[in-house]
Amino acid sequence: MYEGEIASVLVTEQQIQDKINELAKQIAVDYARDGVHCDLLLVGVLKGAVMFMTDFARALPMPTQLEFMAVSSYGSATSSSGVVRILKDLDRDIAGKHVLIVEDIVDSGLTLSWLLKNLASRNPASLEVCSLLRKPDAVKVDVPVRYVGFDIPNEFVVGYGLDYAERYRDLPYIGTLDPKVYSS
Ligand code: 5GP
Ligand code: MG
Ligand code: MG
Repeated sequence: MYEGEIASVLVTEQQIQDKINELAKQIAVDYARDGVHCDLLLVGVLKGAVMFMTDFARALPMPTQLEFMAVSSYGSATSSSGVVRILKDLDRDIAGKHVLIVEDIVDSGLTLSWLLKNLASRNPASLEVCSLLRKPDAVKVDVPVRYVGFDIPNEFVVGYGLDYAERYRDLPYIGTLDPKVYSS
């Protein structure tokens, strides 16, 4: 698949699945009080987080509910501007719910910081973020990402939900693209 288009594999399928199990165990512990799980609502950000969301929800050793949002950040194909538009909103009220935002990647953190403000204004009982990937710039901005799968170098990555021009989302690993892909 995608013969010759992937330059390198940054995170293998096995590494992703192991990390998901580790995060799921930790989160199940964090969202329990006196051995009782609280009602956790996962909010996946379409489309990038869809693979992570579905694998993570199944790895989580506690019941959970799934919601999705679609946002678009204005900007070029490979960087975001911080101006965000809601393409698909949540289907229900999150007031009083324990909400965990499930993200694919935090790069500049602009999208997430907007999303956090937006969801916080709806008065959830708690609001945290779990992102599979984080890039170095994300550390500079004040976006509290409680759970992070992997810190990766500042390179454009694809796979496992992440796209370039809507391609490569279906790869089971995270990789970088061969430069020829950008020039064609
Ligand atoms: P941020 O607002 O943190 O800069 O990035 C927001 C969105 O940009 C991410 O949720 C993701 O959809 C996209 N993005 C950021 N870095 C990458 C990357 O390396 N690869 C891909 N495919 N998308 C990225
Ligand atoms: Mg995203
Ligand atoms: Mg994209």
